Amino acid sequence: MPWRPLKNFDWNSRSCGLHGHATYAPTEAALAARLQAATPSGPAWRCLRCGAYVLGTPQGWGPAEAAPIVLRGKALRDTFVLRFLAVDRFTRGFLLVLLAYGIWRFDGSRMALRQVLNSYLPAIEPLAYKLGVDLDDTSAVRLLQQAFTARHSTLLLVALGVLTYGILELVEGYGLWFKKRWGEYVAVVVTSLFVPLETHEIMVLVSWLRVGALVVNLFAVAYILWTKRLFGFRGGLDAFEAERRNDSLLELEHAGALEHSKATQGDQDPAADNYRGALDISTSERLR
Ligand SMILES: [Zn+2]
Repeated sequence: MPWRPLKNFDWNSRSCGLHGHATYAPTEAALAARLQAATPSGPAWRCLRCGAYVLGTPQGWGPAEAAPIVLRGKALRDTFVLRFLAVDRFTRGFLLVLLAYGIWRFDGSRMALRQVLNSYLPAIEPLAYKLGVDLDDTSAVRLLQQAFTARHSTLLLVALGVLTYGILELVEGYGLWFKKRWGEYVAVVVTSLFVPLETHEIMVLVSWLRVGALVVNLFAVAYILWTKRLFGFRGGLDAFEAERRNDSLLELEHAGALEHSKATQGDQDPAADNYRGALDISTSERLR
């Protein structure tokens, strides 16, 4: 039996709890009838995310095509994971850009930086030691120490390399946060490129920080490849979009409404008539 720690975790309810329900009244009568229920307290509309019927006027109305895309289930989980990775990328990118600036800025006054390093490193060393971080081994510090002994041109190259890597991480973070498909490609390619380097680093010295970073990155590549079906994997983009459509409550009900109208061959649905009246009221309310 596969290990599924979040088997009972309802992403839809969590999202509705945080952001409120997403109700929408489509202008297509048959479809609207399927999403609406009459209750003693008035009409209730079905939440397009969690599926619960919510009393009161819908949050939006218009043709089904113009309905907002409501992420559900797997799509919500993906968003959560990708945003977690995006924060990781943003943090790293920001630190790398700072480091590049530091290398470039202190190039002219190496003595000053050495003094800063010498006066601060001993101060934070005991704390870092308790946290299990060996400061002499931290790649940023090592890089700085190497930079002291490097020539000017080498130093500029190092700063430029670090800056490029930092910007790449920021771009990756942006792409992942806003769920751009190119962002997912950049993330998979860039992360994969650095896996051999990270493996090499671990072979030189094993530390929790390094192993943790490698595990997160390997997970990121596998997760994005699997769920987003990049490079034509598991049917590619077409299969990915079909999966999302299957997850959409509005699309499901739309298909159901079409089937129903085919079955009844254009018979008027009394519920649809009721709905049309309700929509006229809400439209006139909106115009007022
Ligand atoms: Zn809801």
